[in-house]
Amino acid sequence: MLTPTDPITVDLLEFIRRSPTPYHAVDSAAQRLRAAGFALLDEESSWQQLRPGRYYLQRADGTLVAFILPERPRAFRIIGAHTDSPNLRLKPRPAYRKEGYIQLGVEVYGGALLNSWLDRDLGLAGRVVVRDDRGRLVCQLVHIDRPLCRLPQLAIHLDREVNERGLILNKQEHMAPVLALEAGMADGPDPVVRLCAAELGLRPEQVLGLDLMLHDISPPTIGGLGGEFLFAPRLDNLAMCHAALTALLQLGELPPEAAVVPLIVLFDHEEVGSGSAHGAASPLLPAVLERILLSQGYGRDAYHQAVAASLCISADMAHAVHPNHADRHEPRHKPVLNGGPVIKINSQQRYATCARTAALFAELCQQEEVPVQHYVHRTDLPCGSTIGPITAARLGIRTVDVGNPMLSMHSAREMAGSRDPAPMTRVLSRFLRWSEPL
Ligand code: ZN
Repeated sequence: MLTPTDPITVDLLEFIRRSPTPYHAVDSAAQRLRAAGFALLDEESSWQQLRPGRYYLQRADGTLVAFILPERPRAFRIIGAHTDSPNLRLKPRPAYRKEGYIQLGVEVYGGALLNSWLDRDLGLAGRVVVRDDRGRLVCQLVHIDRPLCRLPQLAIHLDREVNERGLILNKQEHMAPVLALEAGMADGPDPVVRLCAAELGLRPEQVLGLDLMLHDISPPTIGGLGGEFLFAPRLDNLAMCHAALTALLQLGELPPEAAVVPLIVLFDHEEVGSGSAHGAASPLLPAVLERILLSQGYGRDAYHQAVAASLCISADMAHAVHPNHADRHEPRHKPVLNGGPVIKINSQQRYATCARTAALFAELCQQEEVPVQHYVHRTDLPCGSTIGPITAARLGIRTVDVGNPMLSMHSAREMAGSRDPAPMTRVLSRFLRWSEPL
């Protein structure tokens, strides 16, 4: 018997379903922001005399910033998350012929668990640059949510020792999905170009650029005996993008005396190190913070004062204890699903948390009557990282790394607790209103 599920969890599943790529995640977020009265800012235009209000901006389709500007901004409350997830991305002119099949050349993006992409029904999504009827180059999103292609696993009769030795997949040789049989395939433009053009109602020659990636078409769902689980792709890190976005949208009107700017930033390219023109290592966030203050007539000194008084939550999913591999976890810190938000700590600064910021987050949880958990990696295993240390190092803003617990991180289909999204969202919303110094 399933227990009733929180509307925030149901909404998260819909957000994930609509967001097979970073571009779609940003588009889904932007739609919600526009509906809530947020106005689009243009980075190429002047922001002088920006009036108090709600604003957002997008960069390169995969990164989004949104904030509420009060009358007298003095500091920022920032939540950072990332829009990208490990997956398979199409190479240029992807389709090729081999052994009577049409296959797709792919690159592995980020640290994907390769085996998780086998024997799944895969759709295709991304952005397409086209020349419109007036001759301009415009970018359009495409989301083909039907079983287009598949990575068939080798039969056990042809690999008898796979269960004993483990599955070893070569990224170049073994990860090319099959799209069609060669027989009957017409000559002419690449079938992927033809497909995208048809989806968008265009001619193939109008398609000039492609950024396409594969996704498992099985819809995100609630699972488990009592509805305690989420089975979904891209929980890392759309779950935290959704929590940050929902927390901002829940704020409503700021009181007239408000002095903190609640701001969320959803970055692309975290899974490949954040080093791009719109990743967390780019000048995007420092520039936005400075421009917000300059727009109100403040100078550089006020900007540095505001940065010193600011706080950041880096929200990225955390590892719950795996019952079949409990030895991979630090024995005294094993977060559980539906056990509440996890504070992530690493003395090598793979996470940016310190005692002060951890205490602040624990305090916020206590005020919301939400339990809090702690995660540290085993000392003898190399720890993953997040955007937290990167933005902290670029900006000098004190940061805490947190996330909800999950399993199967970086699988094509991940797993988390169905009761964790709502408490995290409440805590993040309280943080965005937190006006006291730390
Ligand atoms: Zn992540």
